[in-house]
Parts: sequence; C-alpha cells; structure tokens
Amino acid sequence: MAEIDRDALKLEMTGWRRDLHAHPEFGFEEKRTAAFVAAKLREFGLDDVAEGVGGTGVVGTLKRGSGNRAIALRADMDALRISEQSTAPYRSGNPGLMHACGHDGHTAMLLGAARLLAGEGGFDGTVRFIFQPAEEWGKGALAMLDDGLMQRFPFDEIFGLHNMPGPPVGHFETRAGPVMSAEDIFEIVLRGVGGHAARPHSGQETLVAACALVTSLQTIVSRRLSPADISVVSVTELVTDGTRNALPGLARILGDARSFRPEVSAEIERQMRIIAEGIAATYNVAAEVNYTREFVPLRNDAELVEAAFAAAGTVFEPGNIAVAREPMTASEDFARFLDHVPGCFVFLGNGEASAPLHNSSYDFNDDGLLFGVNFHVAIARQRLGT
Ligand SMILES: [Zn+2]
Ligand SMILES: [Zn+2]
Repeated sequence: MAEIDRDALKLEMTGWRRDLHAHPEFGFEEKRTAAFVAAKLREFGLDDVAEGVGGTGVVGTLKRGSGNRAIALRADMDALRISEQSTAPYRSGNPGLMHACGHDGHTAMLLGAARLLAGEGGFDGTVRFIFQPAEEWGKGALAMLDDGLMQRFPFDEIFGLHNMPGPPVGHFETRAGPVMSAEDIFEIVLRGVGGHAARPHSGQETLVAACALVTSLQTIVSRRLSPADISVVSVTELVTDGTRNALPGLARILGDARSFRPEVSAEIERQMRIIAEGIAATYNVAAEVNYTREFVPLRNDAELVEAAFAAAGTVFEPGNIAVAREPMTASEDFARFLDHVPGCFVFLGNGEASAPLHNSSYDFNDDGLLFGVNFHVAIARQRLGT
C-alpha cells in the first residue's frame, strides 16, 4: 500500500480540528460532530461505521489479515458550556459552547489514525475506533456500554489519550496503576425554622449549623482517612433561603469528592453522613445527605503501560518520555471501559503557552496532532503485530 504523506495529513487534520472547534456541541448533542466523524470514516474505507451508539457515539471498525485479536482506540467528542475568549478565525460559532478541553483535537487525531491505518495497514486483526459522546459529565462511556458496545464491537484492550497544557508539544507521559480519580458529588440540605434576624432564639436557623458543617467536613480527609490514601473533599457552594434581616430556615451545601479506591469513596460518604447527623443534632436542625458517584477511578494496566511506553519510544524523543510521578485528582470517563477490558490512558503535551483545560482562552495545539496520530498507529501495529 502507498504511504500517506504525513505533512499533507497534518494539514488536512488541522482543517478538521478547526472545523470541529468552530462547531462545538454539548454532551449527547454531538450530532454534527458525529456525522462529520462517520462521513470521514466511510471516506477512508473502513469495514464498518456504526452511528448512534449510546446516543451520539460512533464506532468504526477496520480489519486486516486473519488475526482474531481486537484493540480499541478511543477519542471524546463533546464540548463545554464555556464562552470562548478568542479572535481565531475558527473560534466557536455556537455561543456559550466551546472546545475548552481539546476534544476537537482528540477527535481529529483519531480520525488521522483511522486514515493512516486504513490506507497503510501494517497490522493483523481488528481496530475499533471509538468516538464517545458526553465525556465531560461522565455519562457517554456508560451510554455506549449500555448500548451493547462490548457485545456488538468486541475488543481485548483499549487505549486513549488526553492533551496536557504545560509540558511541551512532543512530550509523552503515563503511569501504571492509579492515574485519575473517581469523582463523587454531594449535596447536604439542612432544614430548620427561619425567622427574624433579631430573634434567633425563637427559630432554628440553619446558617450557623451550615458553617460548622463546612468546617467539620474538612476533617474527613485530614483526620478520618489514612494519609496513605489520596483523596479530596471540597465544599464548593453554600446557599440559603435567607435575606439580610431574616435567618434562613434552609441551607444547601454542595461539593465534590475525589478518591482512587472504591473503599475510600465509600468511607468518605459514611463519614459525611456521621458528621452531618452530628452537626444537625447539635444545632437542632434536620440534615439530608445526597451522595452520588459520577466518575470511577482510572487505573492503567501495568502490561499495557509497558506496551504504551514501547510504542511511544518509536514516536517521541527519549528525553520527552516520562513516567508520571503521581496520579491526578481530575477524572476521566475512559475509566468506565476499564471495567470491561484492560487499557492504558496517556497524556501528550499541549505546550507551555497553553491556557489550562476548561479555561475560556484554551485552544488545542495543532502542532501536537501528528504525535497523537503516530502514537495511535504505533500502539495498534505493535499490539496487532503481524
Ligand atoms: Zn474536560
Ligand atoms: Zn477532556
């Protein structure tokens, strides 16, 4: 098969990436994006292109040779409800929505990999190209799995990547074991009897109780969990129904907890309920705790991490390949796939000048496109070696 010119591909991918950037869509609303992806995959001549998997997900299948092993490469397609600050000609054309996490870049990279592997082959088996919806709120992977992803498009292992502001373009890192955390969210509602600000003794106001509760929640991580377990409990909102001269009868505390093991997540919830009930009793109000799990922890398979570093060795300069020192307390929907097959998630530099992820000035760095493509292609060829 004829080799595809990499510089021409990079130019083409930059066009796709900017087109996607100009048309950001929120999770499960990625209709245009999914149609764009499916049209490209068909144009590249994939064996099968399935749309509408788990809502707006797309799965492309490419078979070569007679090997019976299958690997999956995954990208995410959704954007965020953030108003973009940019003067770029390809800035968001959808007010209030933007690609502030680089999923436009991830989608373009996986399309580039599909193009190369379809055009050049070099593997024996099946590659599944998974374009998932709704990564940002942790619902898209589960939607695809619930729609029969593993039964309809089986694969033995899965790889994914995310860009990382800070490290230079051409930087690669990952680690074995815990990589990204679980995310739980909670709401604690305190109910009492509000009343006149001048007569606190005649009601059961909730604000002082809420303040005590916010302070006490800080002891979950510092005093109730093992220092060896990394975790975070952050209270992010305190809202009451009071006004300047009326004591609130209702207070809502909202927040977010991160951890790396299900046992730790369970213990955070248990301790939170104990503290909320204790504070409520002390201040003579009622407490209701709503605790839900949004993202599961992401753990990389040790053997596949070795494989990823080996593949990276053929793509990145040796000095730009690093073992990540510690797991991140951010979360990734990719983790859901790892409940079914082993996998490995890796990070690629987006450059020192890059704004942080989820920042209104963020932009994916197009100079990183070919690195992502080459990594996808290298790992597919290595894992499905002829
Ligand atoms: Zn994000
Ligand atoms: Zn992201």
